[in-house]
Amino acid sequence: MSDETVERSRVLEIRLHGRGGQGGVTCAKLIAALHSRLGRSVQSFGDYAGERSGAPIRAYTRVGDGAIENRNKVYRPDHLIVLDPTLLGPDALAGLADGGTLLVNTPEPAEVLAARFPRVRVAAVDASAIARRHGIGTRSVVIVNTTIAGAYVRAFGLPFEALEETYRAFGYSKNLAAAREAFEAVRESGPVDTSASPPSPPPPAPPKVIPLVEHSDGKSPGLKTGSWRSQTPRYARHLAPCSAACPAGNDVEGFVQALARDGERAAAAVLARTSPLPSVCGRVCPAPCMAGCNRKEKDGAVNVRGLERWIADHAPAVEVEIASCASPRRFAVVGGGPAGLAAAWALARAGHRVTIFEAERALGGVLRTGIPVYRLPRAPLDREIDRLLALGVEVRCGRRLERSDVAAIAREHDATILATGLACARSLDVAGAHLDGVEQGLAFLRRVNLESGARIGGHVVVLGGGNTALDCARSALRSGASEVTVVYRRSRGEMPAIVEEVEQAEHEGVRFAFLRAPVGFEGDGRVRAVSLAEVDLGPPDGSGRRRPVVSERRSALACDAVLLALGQSDDLSLLPDGWSLRQGRLYDGDDPLPAFAAGDLSTGEGTVAHAIGDGRRAALRALAALGPGAEEPRRDRADRVDAARLGRDASAREERNPLGVPPKTVRPEAIRADHFASSPPDGERLVEAAIRRREFGEVSRGLPSAREAQRCYACGDCTRCDTCLVYCPDGVIHRTETGYEIDLSYCKGCGICVTECPRSGMEMSA
Ligand SMILES: Cc1cc2nc3c(=O)[nH]c(=O)nc-3n(C[C@H](O)[C@H](O)[C@H](O)COP(=O)(O)OP(=O)(O)OC[C@H]3O[C@@H](n4cnc5c(N)ncnc54)[C@H](O)[C@@H]3O)c2cc1C
Ligand code: SF4
Ligand code: SF4
Ligand code: SF4
Repeated sequence: MSDETVERSRVLEIRLHGRGGQGGVTCAKLIAALHSRLGRSVQSFGDYAGERSGAPIRAYTRVGDGAIENRNKVYRPDHLIVLDPTLLGPDALAGLADGGTLLVNTPEPAEVLAARFPRVRVAAVDASAIARRHGIGTRSVVIVNTTIAGAYVRAFGLPFEALEETYRAFGYSKNLAAAREAFEAVRESGPVDTSASPPSPPPPAPPKVIPLVEHSDGKSPGLKTGSWRSQTPRYARHLAPCSAACPAGNDVEGFVQALARDGERAAAAVLARTSPLPSVCGRVCPAPCMAGCNRKEKDGAVNVRGLERWIADHAPAVEVEIASCASPRRFAVVGGGPAGLAAAWALARAGHRVTIFEAERALGGVLRTGIPVYRLPRAPLDREIDRLLALGVEVRCGRRLERSDVAAIAREHDATILATGLACARSLDVAGAHLDGVEQGLAFLRRVNLESGARIGGHVVVLGGGNTALDCARSALRSGASEVTVVYRRSRGEMPAIVEEVEQAEHEGVRFAFLRAPVGFEGDGRVRAVSLAEVDLGPPDGSGRRRPVVSERRSALACDAVLLALGQSDDLSLLPDGWSLRQGRLYDGDDPLPAFAAGDLSTGEGTVAHAIGDGRRAALRALAALGPGAEEPRRDRADRVDAARLGRDASAREERNPLGVPPKTVRPEAIRADHFASSPPDGERLVEAAIRRREFGEVSRGLPSAREAQRCYACGDCTRCDTCLVYCPDGVIHRTETGYEIDLSYCKGCGICVTECPRSGMEMSA
């Protein structure tokens, strides 16, 4: 944001102190109405439950140029209006900014007051005398609100005409003469420059004022209404839908709010509880968190993925604590993709010895061999892997293990995690499938990613509709293809590829042929065309998508190369004789082994976030299987129990929710969306399609700033916005050091606080 924007969007905060009967709350509202008439955004409200005549009251007004989202009471006012000089004590002056204005209804001259309050600008007017002369109020209780508003207009250089219009609109025109007199009579002084002079003597002790309702720690007055209720309100943390949807188990609401409130370092610490690869997910995750975001319907989901990348790219490394384990065990992890990395990370943090066995020369799995660098540059990937290795994880790269190796490794270690991914690429059993130029897309991507200068030419046809197909198509363009067509048997809306990938590919010039299925290849030694059958869509199949029905209608698509991206399946030939894989665990016959599968091999889900979440869960299953002494360290477990209670961590929820209760997820209906100003999401900055289609530089430059975090509602998580406190009609909610307390003796259980909470941070319970 430019300085100008910051200045323009600054909100002026005014606090007003008066006594019940003087019209202070109305005065605050008049001032708000006046500013509103001048085109500003305003907010105004008063403290209630101190309405008794003569009791100290406070009222608040905010004035800004944009939407005013802060609903707290005003704790640090820019300006103060004091309707009764006997209130001029530390309580009234608390938080007043240096250089702010103190407008007081007093017969004292402004200069005298200025000597007492040298750091602020003082404006004084005897509004009581003026109001009394004009007969406003009674002889004993003078109502000064409409009078002092005239002085306010003068002190802040506002046009008196605006006040006139405001009074006309409110039916207060007969009070205008008094307001005009106060406008003329107000006198100003200060602030005094105290830097060169010796400190001024302490001001005379202010009269002792005992507020009837103190906003932070006072006691509630009046009738004890606590016995009236059938339900009580309480503060309760609820699970945000984004957190519930994250397959990696990230506390999404937690890291977005940490970023919004405390910055990148704090947000990175939240992410580091669940994921070793935030910069990867922040780039390539399909982001189911965003699909579940409560803000989606209002003006677009919070760009969580972009924020995750922002945090990973901008935060310093988080210092990870390695638990001291009483009896460290030896773990083998076979496969160094995201699942294996997440498992190794969780085990190493729990204080155990871990060795990763990886077939390739470097760790990363599909993140290195499959996903192209224009989507996932290797520098952030390497950085996160290096941080993981710094935990003491050993690595043996460069040898593909055979089943005999797996048996030996399992014998040599206390427990084994198999995270070998989906190694078998599906092929097509049709005529011409063995022609030159027909190649597995994964083999092509491997060449592009691991060998420099891999080329492909002419018209390239890619068969498939997932991320692999899109990566093949876009990599082919960047590797010399003159034309690329993706052929998919269903419609565009049913493509499993990440939506943004499809859009970006299209902008780069990739063409699509939907509802077409390959039925053969033509060529004389080398492929020259793909035979395609038109596909009709039948009734929905098990996946909920309409089943493709291949018709007899055929056509030929001329081409120079074909890349197959038809999906992958697991390769269980690695399992030693007698072993089988059942629900994520390995068995020798019917005997459970201390061996677990993780990631795509175990779930087949096919996303990095699922692999990370499942890798971590597999590690926890392995720790639990080894019994006492090997389970997760206490601190970690305490975190997780807490997380389970809050329903925040997917693995904790699934495995050992100590309450056995499904966590509540905050539904969009529970959000008071009208409390939040509309603001469309910040998009990621993309390199122009015409430039990026011919080079492997990173396509997305990420979000322009972390501002997007401010759009998050903080679903289910109290932000101390004071809305409940302000709306409580009985004034029984009080701020504490860490949150709020409700004086239940006086709470009649109306539930207004719960209804008014913008983000479902409270609930009523019997
Ligand atoms: C081209 C492509 C693009 C993708 N794009 C996305 C995307 O944008 N977003 C997304 O979320 N997901 C994407 N995915 C899916 C995602 O990459 C996988 O779901 C994820 O990598 C699975 O992780 P994993 O650790 O289970 O397996 P893998 O990443 O496959 O890792 C398995 C590792 O095990 C090693 N290994 C296998 N056998 C042996 C053996 N015998 N001995 C030693 N090591 C062995 C392999 O070399 C490999 O390193 C994509 C997948 C592909 C293929
Ligand atoms: S890993 Fe994916 S689903 Fe989870 S927070 Fe990140 S972008 Fe969202
Ligand atoms: S608004 Fe924030 S907390 Fe709520 S679902 Fe969206 S990202 Fe999550
Ligand atoms: S409970 Fe809700 S209304 Fe009350 S302070 Fe927290 S977020 Fe605001």
